[in-house]
Amino acid sequence: MQRWHAKYAWLGGSELTTDVIVTVVDGSISDVSNGEAGLADTTLDGIMLPGLASVHSHAFHRALRGRTNTASGDFWSWREPMYALANSLTPEDYRELATVVFSEMLTAGITAVGEFHYIHGQQDGQPYGGPNVMGLALAAAASDVGIRLTLIDAAYLVSDTAGSPPLPEQRRFSDGSIAAWSDRVRQLASTLEPMDNIRLGVAAHSVRAVAADDLPVIAEIAERLDAPLHIHLSEQVAENDACLEQHGISPTQLLARSGFLGPRTCLVHATHLSDNDMDTIAFSGSNVCFCPTTEADLGDGIGPAKELVSLGIPLSVGTDSNAFIDILEETRRVEHYDRLRLGKRGIHAPADLLTNATSRGYDAIGWTGGGRIAVGAPADFIVVDPTTDEMAGTDVAHLDGIVMAATRASVTDVIVGGEHVVVSGEPATAPSRQQRLSTLERVWDNATRFPKSHS
Ligand SMILES: [Zn+2]
Repeated sequence: MQRWHAKYAWLGGSELTTDVIVTVVDGSISDVSNGEAGLADTTLDGIMLPGLASVHSHAFHRALRGRTNTASGDFWSWREPMYALANSLTPEDYRELATVVFSEMLTAGITAVGEFHYIHGQQDGQPYGGPNVMGLALAAAASDVGIRLTLIDAAYLVSDTAGSPPLPEQRRFSDGSIAAWSDRVRQLASTLEPMDNIRLGVAAHSVRAVAADDLPVIAEIAERLDAPLHIHLSEQVAENDACLEQHGISPTQLLARSGFLGPRTCLVHATHLSDNDMDTIAFSGSNVCFCPTTEADLGDGIGPAKELVSLGIPLSVGTDSNAFIDILEETRRVEHYDRLRLGKRGIHAPADLLTNATSRGYDAIGWTGGGRIAVGAPADFIVVDPTTDEMAGTDVAHLDGIVMAATRASVTDVIVGGEHVVVSGEPATAPSRQQRLSTLERVWDNATRFPKSHS
């Protein structure tokens, strides 16, 4: 048993609570009470918040940061260097790169990540001898670093809404058939079962990458494995147009018809939706994840956050391409983009934005009940320092200072499952700055030299 004291803590309301003691037993919170620092084993200097969740990440995209911005283009042309990188990665690279990214997440206060994983086979599309070697590289990286992981295994079987075969550069994403994907995922489920702080999620990459007939199979497997079910949805207008042309309905309606929507379903992006789509999502009980910095980086558009939230749809946020790794920034941008879009201020309550970044995120990746400083929740919490340059002089008590000013630089301490994994800004286990830099440079260098004929 360990008792942690914080002078201020956010317990979910619109204001902070003073002198909070959190008791942790076996990695979970067993008590939350009021008391002086002297009653605790450890005093945390700052404001205690629940751990942050990045609901949607592709760790390997981190190597593209600051590398794809010199030429003009769009989402579709951005995929070219992304494919080159994806095809150049060995399982060892994949693990090393994820270790870098997960450790950067942890120091930013991200205690749980939904890693949306779609590089399954070898470069030529053949499966590895151990068919989950790539996915397990991510699990190993998360264990090394001490971050909580939902490994979201995505089916990626076709290259367009007409069901055309994968392009050469998409070969290693594909298992060849939905049956082969299902077999591999079942194996992965039993391998992950005994692992601490790691669980399985399943996904269809998008309605572009999975044929309509296969969508119900994936939904069924999620049900059977009691796993969260994710999909990229309507990130681009071109996806909506192609789906309409092929199926006569929008991607959202196609998912509804395929039994893909429901309380376990997380719709990532949901940028270009009709009113009817939003009603369908609300009725189904599905939730939505926005990735504002990536959506801005790729020129995707601004999603209808206010409208979704007004319909009671739970919203969470993700770092997606990891062009930035800062969930406090992602959740702030939900408010900022609605201000830009609607010409008004104060659209989302600060407590609501923090809830998106914490408990709604945990729920969306299957750690239901987590992301809260509450009895029974996993003991995942962080500390932000209100005296840093970003936050000094802000109204912290009413959460304005935290939500509108705090950044990853404000995070000093991180606790995951009761383990103090970042102490005063220093991660307990992480590659050194030099190691991280050399991994990022080496992996990018390999991608640029990867022969086009192999991609
Ligand atoms: Zn994504």
